[in-house]
Parts: sequence; structure tokens; C-alpha cells
Amino acid sequence: MRHITITDMRVRIVNVPVKATHSHGSGDVSAIRSVVLELVADSGHTGWGEASPWPVFTGTAEASAAALNTHLRPHVVGANALRREQIMAAADRVVVRCSEAKAALEMALLDVVGKTLGLSVGQLIGGRRRNSVPVSFTVANPVFEEDMEIIAHLYGSGVRIFKLKTGFRDHRFDIMRLEKIRETYDEGVDLRIDYNQGLKAVDAIRTLRDMEPFRLGFIEQPTPRDNLEALAAISAAIDTPVMADESVFNPREALVAAQMRLTDIFSLKVMKSGGIARAQEIAAIAGAAGIGVYGGCMFETGLAHLAGAHLVSALPEIDLGCEFYMPTYYAKDDILTEPFPIRNGAVHIPEDPGLGIEVDTDKLDQYTVETLAAPA
Ligand SMILES: [Mg+2]
Repeated sequence: MRHITITDMRVRIVNVPVKATHSHGSGDVSAIRSVVLELVADSGHTGWGEASPWPVFTGTAEASAAALNTHLRPHVVGANALRREQIMAAADRVVVRCSEAKAALEMALLDVVGKTLGLSVGQLIGGRRRNSVPVSFTVANPVFEEDMEIIAHLYGSGVRIFKLKTGFRDHRFDIMRLEKIRETYDEGVDLRIDYNQGLKAVDAIRTLRDMEPFRLGFIEQPTPRDNLEALAAISAAIDTPVMADESVFNPREALVAAQMRLTDIFSLKVMKSGGIARAQEIAAIAGAAGIGVYGGCMFETGLAHLAGAHLVSALPEIDLGCEFYMPTYYAKDDILTEPFPIRNGAVHIPEDPGLGIEVDTDKLDQYTVETLAAPA
């Protein structure tokens, strides 16, 4: 087969309700607001993609929707989906940044090509190296008692990795929560913390030294994204591994981060890198530099989680697990025809063609808040 031509595309904004507000060093989140991209091909198959922006982190849903619907459309409709990198290069030429929109585009292209050829996305990106990856749940409820109940419930179902959002209230609140969880579970859980840039650089090292006794798996993005010198100083001063999230989006930033020993770990997210291929490039840089990688996500439905799951299944190393827990443990509903596959504390990678689980179009319609009209 030489051509799989994209004949039509549709862009919509969806709003999926969640069970509780989650608080972070960079603000609160109370819904999953995503952009869903639908690509129709002449093979008769439909490919699905999702852009999941967070305005304080990557960008806005409105910008992602406009990037896809107005600016990327002319480079997608009529294009040969088998020339995925050529299409992605065009996307980079005509729209600066908007990495979530590009992630959605790559995801939908992979999905439609996979469905047409009878191959999973994992097979298209190099082939799976593992069938499952341990999943981390994020503890971010401002009412900690509710989170302790959820942790108990998830522990019972096999989840052993928990990441606390820290720095949104005060240091004593963070210490109290870590003490409670260690008292209850001791070494039975792998605990991590994520400040989402919430600490001031001026006092960060002293604050983080207090966290060393909790034997954390990592400390994620303690300080503001652009202050690379502060982050490098923290990584050098602290024994606990430090992870970059907001500070490393793309291969170029990963290269600079590796050169300056910015952190010990990078969080890979298809939404930051603009798709799976660039995330694999970041993983290659990390691997060459002896830096660990982690399967991170934004506020996503199961659709974007599928892309992340295929990515982590194909990485050379993924020692730290992934956090694709949203549709299972956080959202009230999802837009897939089957539950996102989490069992016994791990994400199990789907094997069916494309992303591996279909979009439920009734659910999609139910949660659509805006369908963009094709430009005249
Ligand atoms: Mg983070």
C-alpha cells in the first residue's frame, strides 16, 4: 500500500466531568477539557486524536482547536497518512508551539494508518517491549481525608505508586500528608511529590531537604520552569532524584537539560513533545545521558492515554511507571467504548489495530461543547 489519503477532518472541544477538584502548585483543575480530532481516510477508517491542554502549562483548548481546524487542516486533508513525518514537519512550519494540537494530529494519523494496515500504534512506533506498565495515582485533593480513602481503595486494587501534589498550600500540610501515608503504608508504597513549579527558588533547597527522610521516588518540578540554574542547583544539592516536567517539552530542551545535568529524570508527555515520535527522541537523549524517564500525562481522556500507553510500551527503559489514571480513577466518564485498561495496579497495553480501543461516538457527542465549522 502506497497511499492512505485523508479525505476529511473534524475538530471539537469536549468537557468531561471529574470526581473532585485537584489542586496544584500552579492552580486548580475541575474538568477535563480536551480537543478531539477525527480524521477520515479513503481506506474507510477513522483515526482519532486528542489535544489536552492546560492553560497554565501547555496552552488552551481554543488555541489547539484553531491550530488544527484552521492552520493544520490544509496540510492534512488530501495528504498521504503514510508520510506522517512529512505532515508533522509541515505542522511545525505553519504553527509555532501548540504541541498538544500536533500530538492530536500525530495520534490520529497513527490510529488511521494502524487500523488500515491491521497494526497497533505500538507496532508502528517500533514494537512493544513490555505488555504492562505500573500506574501511579495522583493525590491532589485539598481535602486530604478524601484522598486517604481513595489511596486505601486503590491500594486494595493493586496500585502501589502515589504522587502527591505539593506546594499548593503550605510546607506543614505537605509534611503532614507524607507522614500520614508513610505511617499507614510504610515502605509498601512508592511515594513521589510534584510541586508544579510551586516553590520559590530562593528557599527551595532548604524546603526539599525536609523531604529527604520520606525516601521519595522523585521530586517533580519544584521551581519555575525557566529558572534552569535553580533546578540544576537543587538536583545537585538533594539526594532524592529530581524530575523535570514543565522545564522539558521537546528534544532541544532535553538536550540542554542533559548537558547541564538539570535533573535526574524527565517526564515524557505526548502533549508536551507534540507526539510520540518526539517523545521517543527525548527518551533517546535521556538514555544516552543516563537520565531516567517517566510516563506522564495531562488532564486527558482515555483517548490520549492510549497514545501514552503505546509510547511507554515501546520505550527502551521505563523504570518509574506511568500516570495514565484519569478515566479510571479521576474522571466521571470517558469517551471510549471500553474502559481504559488498568488492572492490578498496571496499565495493560491494548493489542488491537490503531490505538486499540474505539471512540464511543455517543459519549463523544454527549460531552462535546463545541464543534468547529470547517473554514470556508
Ligand atoms: Mg508534573
